Amino acid sequence: MLDRRYRMLMDKLGPALPGLLVMSLFINLLALATPLFVMQVYDRVIFHAGLTTLQALVLGICAVILFDFFLRQARSRVLQRVALAVDVDLGRALFAKVAGLPLQVLEARPGHTWQFLFRDLETVRNTVAGAAIVAIVDLPFIVFFLGLVIWLAPPLAWVFAIVAVAFAVLGLWNGLTVGHATRLEREAGMRRDRILNEIVLGRAVMKSAAMARPLQDLWEDGQAASIASSIRRGRLADSSMNVGASLGVIATIALTSVGAVAILDLEMTVGTLVAANLLAGRLIAPLSQLISSWRALAQMRDSAGRLAAILAEPDDRRADAIDLPRPSGRLQLEAVSFAYVPEAPPVLGNISLRFGPGGLHAIVGPNGSGKTTLLKIAHGLYRPSKGRVLLDDGDMSQFSRDQIARWIGYVPQDGFLFSGSVRENIARFSGEVADAEILAAAQLAGVHAFVADLPDGYDTQVGEGGSRFSTGQRQRIAIARALVGRPPILLLDEPTSNLDREAEEELRRQLVELGKSTTVIVVTHSPALLQSSDSITVLIKGNIALAGRSDQVLPRLMGNNVRQVGT
Ligand code: ADP
Repeated sequence: MLDRRYRMLMDKLGPALPGLLVMSLFINLLALATPLFVMQVYDRVIFHAGLTTLQALVLGICAVILFDFFLRQARSRVLQRVALAVDVDLGRALFAKVAGLPLQVLEARPGHTWQFLFRDLETVRNTVAGAAIVAIVDLPFIVFFLGLVIWLAPPLAWVFAIVAVAFAVLGLWNGLTVGHATRLEREAGMRRDRILNEIVLGRAVMKSAAMARPLQDLWEDGQAASIASSIRRGRLADSSMNVGASLGVIATIALTSVGAVAILDLEMTVGTLVAANLLAGRLIAPLSQLISSWRALAQMRDSAGRLAAILAEPDDRRADAIDLPRPSGRLQLEAVSFAYVPEAPPVLGNISLRFGPGGLHAIVGPNGSGKTTLLKIAHGLYRPSKGRVLLDDGDMSQFSRDQIARWIGYVPQDGFLFSGSVRENIARFSGEVADAEILAAAQLAGVHAFVADLPDGYDTQVGEGGSRFSTGQRQRIAIARALVGRPPILLLDEPTSNLDREAEEELRRQLVELGKSTTVIVVTHSPALLQSSDSITVLIKGNIALAGRSDQVLPRLMGNNVRQVGT
């Protein structure tokens, strides 16, 4: 059974392999022409002054050179096609996989890990189509050359045997040490780049809190560790290469010396010795190439391992088993518990709640009480560790992400937008959303009022992450995005936290209006929103402290001071 990483590589390389092997066979056979040519020139042309033979030989060798050139070109083309297949097929599969992984898996690793996976793809692509693969394909022909040399020049056989064993030992040592050092080098590079990534993400905090100096120190530590590991890997690789080069020279000297003795003993001709030396070159070349490409091969092995592991991860449900009718908007949590890490205490414990259809439902509670987590579970972004979520009596886990996104609008706290226009963001980058629908969503979310004013209107570019707009504006665009398609359920995470009083009041009115036809669940601290809600759930430390109709819960909440409970 092939390890899955090799299976993945063989999927791409496999179809090209027979062609590569045939071409390499001919290239290696043609490589015999030069030693044969030299042998003939030394043993026949020179000794017998055979100029006509020389002419024929030169003509013949020219034809061989030409043929060899075309064969090599063809082999490169085949490898380029393999590279293209890796780029296109694996690239597409990787993107689809990363986009399709459950949020919990995506959040479990630092953001830059995912970018590095695409670098892994490049590593695989460059190596699979590079010199190292040619050297590997050439490896079986070493046995052929070895056999030929032993047959041609028996007195040199033992020298060849020693050289081959020495290269094998060097290759093994190189493989173990350079492979390990390459892995350490990558890890050190990742640690350094993580610091850089965070500096870019938190650039405003870095400036405002004057953290540049300490952060630079941190980065420099990371950079120093990365350089140290590169130097170590470089030293090991260089040592192997240099030992390989010395071994090559030693092989030539040993062959020539032993050959000279054999010639004196009349066991061999001069031509045979020169030819054997050339053959030794053909034998040593792929071995040296392998040693110098070891870093690339080790990187490819590790990269392919990481890619194969990610590609084997289970996705969020993608396909809809059946196209279900639009739900009425009833959402139910049945004894839901949730922990971010299995061994940690649960963030939510045994939560049972019912919402809708319709109505405005508020969730309130101190920071860290699990409100955001609850919304993400209600949206199917996280799977409950225990219990289940029901959408109109159907277990949420049976629905695909597309279905859930159509039925449940979700507005996260930060209102993240993707680079593109306001229109594209509201339409979720789909070309199928009609202008009228975009406009209706924008008006409901209070976006139209400030976007219509802009010189480019709905074509205004929002900038990276939506940086062109204030947090409050971003949040409202995110609300419009969630409203497209008029989902029967709408989840909002603190939508008023960045709104001024007027905008908050407008949003309150709109949510109350929406609540008549849509189940609106909102995490909020806003007294105005709480007062307009039909139901209120108070979460404390992951448990329901109070829940019920707002006219029953609100007085008790007020007694404890809403702001205290809610902040
Ligand atoms: P709230 O929205 O009420 O402020 P959250 O749902 O964001 O609370 O967080 C609830 C608890 O879960 C907190 O203790 C927080 O530290 C923890 N938590 C939130 N997100 C993660 C995460 N990605 N990994 C681990 N723990 C988390």
